[in-house]
Amino acid sequence: MVDLFKKYNLNKDEVAVWAKKNYPNVASEETISPALLNLMAQLYIREVIGELVEPTDIETITGPVTPASDVKEGEWVNIQVAIGRKIRETTYMGCPLCYRSLPKEGPSTCQVDGPVEPKAHTWTRYIAADNSGEIMVSLPPRLSSEHKDLMGRVVKARGVLNDQGEFNMQSINIMGAGTGEPLPLKEKAKEFVDEAEVQLFTNMLKTFPSMSEEDLNKWHSFQKIKTPLSVLLARSGAEEFEEANQKRFRFPRTEQPSDQN
Ligand SMILES: [Zn+2]
Repeated sequence: MVDLFKKYNLNKDEVAVWAKKNYPNVASEETISPALLNLMAQLYIREVIGELVEPTDIETITGPVTPASDVKEGEWVNIQVAIGRKIRETTYMGCPLCYRSLPKEGPSTCQVDGPVEPKAHTWTRYIAADNSGEIMVSLPPRLSSEHKDLMGRVVKARGVLNDQGEFNMQSINIMGAGTGEPLPLKEKAKEFVDEAEVQLFTNMLKTFPSMSEEDLNKWHSFQKIKTPLSVLLARSGAEEFEEANQKRFRFPRTEQPSDQN
């Protein structure tokens, strides 16, 4: 998540003094908690600097993060993962207001919203990973329409693992700049990553630029690489993979000739 104090060049003491003066009912204690100070910074940015904080700069999912491999079916938890490749999209016709599915034939009347014009809604599924392992995540239509492609992003998500082994994300925070910004992975993915393994992987890709996904998986387990494959792919140039199909990745073009030698 973006550090608002850094981004807007704010002084913590100054914000704290301002908060105590303007919000004495909540900011009355001698020391202001980090969460309250962060919220006060958002208000300060709006009221003093005159700018609105980007929604993606605000962390709405708080509380502990569960490692992907420890997530249990039916339990609501937070995870923080790097999003790898998109694996499946499913679309259905539904109510534009409440997303309930509607029959394809006949007049469209939602049992909650009455007569409506049905809209195509999409569920999107990705392979994601943290340092503990991989997890399949699914994005409901409400979030799929807002975030067209999450590949290569690091997200914090609140959700629940269903009986199909999919982690159903109900809310997400993108841990970086706004969705249109260059990928923040190189900085943000550090916590998942062994730099030596990234270097090894990048060198391997330069030598074998068109390895199949299957071969990559073999290489990954043969070399006993700890950094998840999806993270390695993302780190070696995630923006190049967006168009990748499911059988074969397109690897980043490099200055060096990528012929095998
Ligand atoms: Zn409806």
